[in-house]
Amino acid sequence: NEVIRKTFNEANTDENCAGVITWMHTFSPAKSWILGLQEYRKPLLHLHTQFNREIPYDTIDMDFMNENQAAHGDREYGHIFSRLNMERKVVAGYWEDEDVQKQIGSWMRTAVGVVESSHIRVMRVADNMRNVAVTEGDKVEAQIKFGWEVDAYPVNEIVEAVNAVSQADIDTLVEEYYDKYDILLEGRDEKEFREHVAVQAGIELGFERFLDEKNYQAIVKDHDYQAVVTHFGDLGGLKQLPGLAIQRLMEKGYGFGAEGDWKTAAMVRVMKIMTQGMKDAKGTSFMEDYTYNLVPGKEGVLEAHMLEVCPTIADGKISIKEQPLSMGDREDPARLVFTSKTGPAVATSLIDLGDRFRLIINDVDCKKTEKPMPKLPVATAFWTPQPNLKVGTEAWILAGGAHHTAFSYDLTAEQMGDWAASMGIEAVYIDKDTTIRQFKNELLWNSVAFRK
Ligand code: MN
Repeated sequence: NEVIRKTFNEANTDENCAGVITWMHTFSPAKSWILGLQEYRKPLLHLHTQFNREIPYDTIDMDFMNENQAAHGDREYGHIFSRLNMERKVVAGYWEDEDVQKQIGSWMRTAVGVVESSHIRVMRVADNMRNVAVTEGDKVEAQIKFGWEVDAYPVNEIVEAVNAVSQADIDTLVEEYYDKYDILLEGRDEKEFREHVAVQAGIELGFERFLDEKNYQAIVKDHDYQAVVTHFGDLGGLKQLPGLAIQRLMEKGYGFGAEGDWKTAAMVRVMKIMTQGMKDAKGTSFMEDYTYNLVPGKEGVLEAHMLEVCPTIADGKISIKEQPLSMGDREDPARLVFTSKTGPAVATSLIDLGDRFRLIINDVDCKKTEKPMPKLPVATAFWTPQPNLKVGTEAWILAGGAHHTAFSYDLTAEQMGDWAASMGIEAVYIDKDTTIRQFKNELLWNSVAFRK
C-alpha cells in the first residue's frame, strides 16, 4: 500500500509526468490501491493486456498461469475504480498491436491536455460582444473546473506594447511575410498595401511581446470593441482590426476567441497543446459557422471568421489580401486567405449551462467547396457534420452549441470526450451513430446526472 501511495504522490508532483499507465499482469488485491488512488490527481490509463499473445499450449503450467493473469488481476483492479467512482481510461488489447499502441498514444495527448489545462491563462481584450449569450460564462467556475485564468486588459495597455515595436523589427517581419505569402494586390497601391501589412506586423509583435511578458497563452478580443473606433482614435494605437497578426499568433500556438469568447480561446489552446509536436499535423483553429450549402448531396457549412482563421489548417498557398471591413472606420486590414484541408476532423463547443459546462463534440468531414469564391476575402473551411447536415445541425442546436468552435483535424472525439471526462464535465457526441430521439434522451438524462 505504501509503495503504491508513494509512487502516485511522486507522479502528482513530477512536472514531467502527465499521467500513469497501470497493468496488473498478476493478481493485485485492490484494497492495496485505495489509499494511493484516493491521493492521485492526474489522468490514469488502465491497460488491459498480457505479455504473451498466444496460450503456450505445450508448456503452460500453474506457475505460468499465476504470473500471466491480467484477465483476473485487471478485473480485481478495475473494480476498485468503479467502487471509488474514479475516472480512468481503459484500453484492452494486445500490447504489440498498432491499434492498441495508437490508442495509448492518443490518450497520452489527452493526458497532456488535462494536466496543461490548469496552466492556461487567457488575456481578454475588453468584455463580451454586446447582447451575445453563448460566449458568456462563469469564469470562476471555469478556473475551478479547468484551471483557466481569464484576465481582462484595457486595449490601451496593449496598444502601448504595439507602439513600442521598433520600425526595424516591423520591417524584418514584413520581409518574412512577403517571402512566405503570395501578395494579392488586386489593383491596390503597392506602397499603401505594404504599409497596411506593416501595421499587422506591429500588432503581431506587440501582442506577442505583451502576451509573453505576462505569460498568457490565449487571447480573446471583441470585434464589436474593435469597431468602437473612438477608443482607438483616442489612443492613436491600433490602426486595423488584428487579422493577419492574430492568424500568425494562432499559428504559433496561441488560443484565440473572438467577440469576448474566452471559452473557445482556451479550448483552442488546449487543443493546440494536445496536438503539439504531432507528425504530419493538419492543423487546429478557432472557427465559426457562417452559411450553408443546402443542395441535396452537397450539403455543408461554410466555415470562416471575419479574419481570424489559423493558417495551420490551410491547404496549399496562403495569400495576403486587403479589403475593407463592413464595420468601423479603421484601415482595410491585411489578412491571410486560403482554403482548408480535406478529411475527417472534430469541431467542439464548450458551453456554460448555468449549473454545469457541456462540451459538444461533432465529427465533421472537411471538403473543398464545389467552386472557388473569388469575392470572399477570408480564409475558409467547408464541412459536412456527421451523421449528415440535417441531423448534425439539429443535434447541435438541441445541445445548445455555439456558432464558434475549437476545431482540429488532428484530434478525435474520443480524445476530446476523455478530456471532458477528466475535467468532470458533461460531453455529448454528434457522430455517425447519432439519432435525434436518442440524443434528446441523452441530454435529458445528463441533466439529471449532472444535477448539483
Ligand atoms: Mn464570431
